[in-house]
Amino acid sequence: MDTLRVAIAGAGIGGLAAAMALNREGVRVDVYEQASELREVGVGLHLASNGSRILRGWGLSEPLARVAVRPAALEVRDWAGGRTLTRQDMGDAWERRFGAPFYTVHRPDLHRLLAERLPAGQLNLNRRVTGFHDLGEDGVRLTFADGGTAHADVLVAADGVHSVIRRAVAGPDAPVFSGMSAFRGLVPAGRLDGIPRDTVLIWAGPRSRLLCYPVRDGRFLTFVAVVPSAGRRPESWSSTGDPDEVRAAFAGWALDVRALLAAVDEAGCWALYDREPLPAWGTGLVTLLGDAAHPMLPHHGQGASQAIEDAVVLGHCLSRAAADAGPGGARHLRLADALRRYEAIRRPHTARVQAASRDGGSQRLGPAERPDSAERPGSAAATRSLVEDVSWIQSHDVRDDLDETAAEVVSHETV
Ligand code: FAD
Repeated sequence: MDTLRVAIAGAGIGGLAAAMALNREGVRVDVYEQASELREVGVGLHLASNGSRILRGWGLSEPLARVAVRPAALEVRDWAGGRTLTRQDMGDAWERRFGAPFYTVHRPDLHRLLAERLPAGQLNLNRRVTGFHDLGEDGVRLTFADGGTAHADVLVAADGVHSVIRRAVAGPDAPVFSGMSAFRGLVPAGRLDGIPRDTVLIWAGPRSRLLCYPVRDGRFLTFVAVVPSAGRRPESWSSTGDPDEVRAAFAGWALDVRALLAAVDEAGCWALYDREPLPAWGTGLVTLLGDAAHPMLPHHGQGASQAIEDAVVLGHCLSRAAADAGPGGARHLRLADALRRYEAIRRPHTARVQAASRDGGSQRLGPAERPDSAERPGSAAATRSLVEDVSWIQSHDVRDDLDETAAEVVSHETV
């Protein structure tokens, strides 16, 4: 079989992780990104044990440890008085339990770490994909906003939550509004005395929550303030918010919360939407990956880790199909089958994570939500239940899903 050539739309964390997984399997990759440069956009994200296990397997432990923070603990604090209600060890304890570290990381740092490992010549900037034509045994032709075209054996759409390719393969879908917006921002840690640089902090108050965690080797603190919202904001990572608005929303809160927000120069703000899980991620020689496939609310902090898990399974399935020169249909049919196998492995798990993200994470700690005494907010039992709630996600080792018997090929599509 000729070298397999895969086009990836989108050079976000999912697209770059897919490129890395495919390059490791000897597949030729072309990444097409709409932006004219890979800009430093975004603030903090969680790279949970299920994601960091994969990057460790790719030999990235050292560079990752240089830019990310492995928090020592998770603390839940009283939203009004500010005292620590419970403290749950993370660090070594988390790593022992889930088999890999839990990191908090500045999104541009993780993005750069992956981008720097993309072989020269594979990244094509300023190329916004507008559509594709599946040519069957002749592969896929991509079309671009500049009128140009490109050719590949397979197209992987990693073009994020507003994916144009998702619309083409799965039809239009309605964003589901959560009733909340999130303000996010970054503050130099040196401006704040009272906030530790090695701890994930949660203040869960009536209707709103604030999370704060260290990034960039503890030199910065990033926060996510989740507030009720009428939903008039755009669903966009680049929309800005007014720092005074978030300060006003948390005006009566603990001193540390007010000090943190007082130090904010700029904030992003966007309405929190997700989508229902899709019944199918692909057709023929085209598939979806990352947020394009399974947009989820941020409450379990799994956006990046699930995209990285997708990348591993995609790399495995496509490389097996590329290596298989034996009988079993023409090459394009084998590739389409490989994409359906990838989807069959990933769809059930990501649908579960999407559903769990709707009421997971710190939302479980709000005073109104857990009125029972055993799990009252801030109790050790409530915090333990928060950890139990994520254990099936964080202990997941996606390599266990690669067993050939793990997923049935759902269809042998004609392309
Ligand atoms: P994304 O990260 O959204 O990447 C999609 C990529 O595709 C982008 O580079 C986009 O420019 C490109 N693209 C879109 N349409 C096209 C097209 N038609 N043709 C070519 N390229 C296209 N998550 C957090 O938890 N915290 C953050 O602070 C945060 N900041 C973010 C900032 C930005 C600018 C973006 C794009 C995402 C951010 N995220 C953040 C989301 C997080 O990175 C994702 O949830 C997760 O990493 C999964 O990534 P993804 O690659 O599937 O999608």
